Amino acid sequence: MNRIAQYTLVSVVVGFASVGLAQQRDSAPVEFQRISERLFQTAGGRGAQGGVYIGDDGVLVIDAKMDEASVKQVIEGIGKLTDKPIEYLVNTHSDGDHIAGNRYFPKTVTFIAHENCRKEFFLPGRDGRPSQWSTPELAPFVPSVTFADKMVVYLGSKPVEFWYFGVGHTTGDIVVYFPEEKTAFIGDQIFLTRPQLIHSYKGGNSFEHVKTLSKMLATLDAEKFCSGHSASTDRKGIADHIAEMKQLQAKVKSLTEQDKTLADVQAEFDQGQARLIESIYNELKAGSAQ
Ligand SMILES: [Zn+2]
Repeated sequence: MNRIAQYTLVSVVVGFASVGLAQQRDSAPVEFQRISERLFQTAGGRGAQGGVYIGDDGVLVIDAKMDEASVKQVIEGIGKLTDKPIEYLVNTHSDGDHIAGNRYFPKTVTFIAHENCRKEFFLPGRDGRPSQWSTPELAPFVPSVTFADKMVVYLGSKPVEFWYFGVGHTTGDIVVYFPEEKTAFIGDQIFLTRPQLIHSYKGGNSFEHVKTLSKMLATLDAEKFCSGHSASTDRKGIADHIAEMKQLQAKVKSLTEQDKTLADVQAEFDQGQARLIESIYNELKAGSAQ
């Protein structure tokens, strides 16, 4: 669909004001992709793909998009499916494309995240700039409910499981699991179309990432895994990703043992993998690779 057609669709379907359209210029309209009667993946908009689950009495949203126009589309989309209120918003981790939109949801929503993710809200950015989340205006939109290993929220009779399997992409990535649908929302713990992103500056670690995903496969009987940035995958897709990461790590390890510099090691891989190779290289050098 070309850009003009997208704008027409947004304005016809959602009836945006021109300000919304301006903010929306580089992204497709938010689209609700049905997984089950109650569960949807939200694609499009500015920010990562997330999800919406309609419980007996209220709605749970997974990840927040990044701007007001996208959040407005998510809220309007929910309104077309149900008149139940948005009760919970769970952030899969602390990256801006998953949390920036928290501030555009109603203050009555309960924000949930892993305890490490909440800590990361207040960390300076990669460029060293201080976090905005310490300001009083944003305080109501920082997760107020956190957990360590596992938490279950019941939306009426329907359980939604929040699992933490360990450090990986960041230190606070969680899995939101819907047992009836055997579907897990795993945020940025897998990228199928580009190299895995490891946020070393937040404490992310590629070797831990492999262990964390292996633990997830061993623990959950999930069959479908929804990513923040690529198509969904199945158990084999996750297992293949783990195998590829291990292969990559083994190759970087053997090159590092030959005393090659980072630039020399990176030259042995595709240019697009440079960032991931840097993370693996630094982890090996720092002794944080086990
Ligand atoms: Zn993301």
